[in-house]
Amino acid sequence: MNFTLTILGSASALPFSDRNPSAQALSVHGRLFLLDCGEGTQQRIRQEHLSFVKIEAVFISHIHGDHCFGLFGLLSTMSLYHRVAPLHIFGPQNLGPIIKFYLSYFGQDLGYEIVFHPITAQGLAMTTKNVTVTAFPLNHKMDCYGYRFDEIVTPRRNPWKPRSYAYVSDTAPFPELASYVKDVDLLYHEATYPAGMEDKAQQYYHSTSLQAAQCARDAGARQLIIGHYSSRIKDISSLAEECREIFPESFTVNDGDIFEIPYIREYEKMSSDSTGVDGCADGSI
Ligand SMILES: [Zn+2]
Ligand SMILES: [Zn+2]
Repeated sequence: MNFTLTILGSASALPFSDRNPSAQALSVHGRLFLLDCGEGTQQRIRQEHLSFVKIEAVFISHIHGDHCFGLFGLLSTMSLYHRVAPLHIFGPQNLGPIIKFYLSYFGQDLGYEIVFHPITAQGLAMTTKNVTVTAFPLNHKMDCYGYRFDEIVTPRRNPWKPRSYAYVSDTAPFPELASYVKDVDLLYHEATYPAGMEDKAQQYYHSTSLQAAQCARDAGARQLIIGHYSSRIKDISSLAEECREIFPESFTVNDGDIFEIPYIREYEKMSSDSTGVDGCADGSI
């Protein structure tokens, strides 16, 4: 009954030797979902010992290369692993022609179906037995969406408070954002720039560390993790310190970090509501 987030890539535009472009894997009760798919995601999936064929759906935020350049290779590798289950891909409408292009050149004998679900507005994207996924618009240079995962629990089988995770990809701040991620247990929010570079962030439709923390505070999130650092930032630890000035439960992420959101039984919640999200399972924060 896990609810586990693995950071596959935490860089912005450029890949580095120790930091890959955006990608995350979320496992909910053993079911695997991929969030963004920057270049190198295949290798990162391998390094984290995750299964290519177990990925049920891919959620792409937008079609900047650092969020989708890894998709073609991944789709072909799934075929080489004899995937037969359909793969659901969610993303903005302009991802549709890209997938069509892929299929026209590389889709022969793929062996499985790719089902593209264009996202055009805020709303429910997907429901499984254990989780609902809601898409919400972000404020970037192009169509861009964040995704929120809410666990479905049944009081008899899973007597605990439903857990939640929200992925806020590239965005400049905007007033409605906090409401889309209200009360999430774990919030990922991009923080491309350090505090004090708000002008630059606004120019490129990104956020600073402080703006990410403001969103977490306004949303009432339990814990904030930040990533998508500009390549000009050499020491990311200062970003977390900036966030903690207004939102103490803030952490930077690195590739390979794993976050397990523990479940809290209802009776524990009644006696103490102080249990937070575990830090990194690998002890890196
Ligand atoms: Zn980006
Ligand atoms: Zn972008």
